[in-house]
Amino acid sequence: MSLKINELCINCDVCEPVCPNKAISMGPDIYVIEADLCTECVGHFDEPQCVSVCPVECIDPDPDHPESQEQLLAKLAQLQAEGAAP
Ligand code: SF4
Ligand code: SF4
Repeated sequence: MSLKINELCINCDVCEPVCPNKAISMGPDIYVIEADLCTECVGHFDEPQCVSVCPVECIDPDPDHPESQEQLLAKLAQLQAEGAAP
């Protein structure tokens, strides 16, 4: 399941650089996560790095993009094959 930034985001910028897949960017009002690029950090870290650094806990699972652990690992492999993830 990719993650989603909710309206409590204060645009503090700290999550953007810690995402291994460059899935986070500034949106029209607050930061947003590109669901196709978010892997919940599986294969890179033990926990989602954006959630770890967010000072206001405004990053939640995105129920519109349910994915199993296996699907997330396959997504990471695909991103790596495309050169979109390290
Ligand atoms: S969970 Fe990981 S991959 Fe997804 S947006 Fe956060 S830092 Fe990026
Ligand atoms: S770390 Fe949290 S508050 Fe800061 S920009 Fe990212 S989502 Fe928004």
